[in-house]
Amino acid sequence: MKLTIDKELCTGCELCVSSCPDIFEMEGDVAMVKVEVVPDAAQDCVRQAVEDCPVTAIKIEE
Ligand code: SF4
Repeated sequence: MKLTIDKELCTGCELCVSSCPDIFEMEGDVAMVKVEVVPDAAQDCVRQAVEDCPVTAIKIEE
């Protein structure tokens, strides 16, 4: 699983970063993905973060 974050949409609420700190980190005012490929063990966390993002800025590229 690979991820992208739409920087135009991200409001920097940090929800994804606090939910999955191994996967997301803040870069200035927006979140970024810090792994090239999401490890299997983190996929449930990431799917929840995608659902929870208030502006649906996180996209999964399977
Ligand atoms: S949850 Fe969504 S809006 Fe909030 S920091 Fe993460 S990508 Fe940005």
